[in-house]
Amino acid sequence: MSELRELYQEVILDHNRNPRNFGQLRPHSHHANGHNPLCGDKLELFLDVVDGVIKDIKFTGSGCAISTSSASLMTQFLKGKSIAETRIYFDHFHDLVTGKGLSDEDLDDLGKLAVFAGVQEFPARVKCASLSWHTLMNALDTTKHIAQTEN
Ligand code: ZN
Repeated sequence: MSELRELYQEVILDHNRNPRNFGQLRPHSHHANGHNPLCGDKLELFLDVVDGVIKDIKFTGSGCAISTSSASLMTQFLKGKSIAETRIYFDHFHDLVTGKGLSDEDLDDLGKLAVFAGVQEFPARVKCASLSWHTLMNALDTTKHIAQTEN
C-alpha cells in the first residue's frame, strides 16, 4: 500500500513539475476561469469542442501541486472524449475525491486520475483536486452570447 502511495505521489509531482497541455488555446470554443480561495489556486481553461468531442484542451494558471497536477492529468485524460462522456467522468471524479466509493469498473475507467483518491482524507485538498473539473463544467455550460456589448 505504501508503494502504491509513493507511485501516486510520483505521478502528482511529475505533472506538477512538467504540466501537460499548459498554455493558452486559440481559437477555442469554450473557456472559463477557476479560483480556489482556500488555497489560492487559479486556473484558466480553454477547450476546442468540435461535433461534441473535445478536440483540444489546455490550461494556464498557478496553484499548488495538487491543483496543477489535477488540471494536467485531466486535460490529458479528456482529449478526444465526448462531452457526454466528460459529464459522467466529472461525476465519477467527484465521487472519487469525496470518498463516495466507485465500482471497480468506474475506477478503472479513470486510469491515472485514480491517484487523487488520496485527497478524500484531506477536505481542504478536495477543492484543490476538483478545481479544474468544476472549471471545466463552467466552461461547458457557458453559452457564448453573440450580442455581447461589454468588453
Ligand atoms: Zn491547492
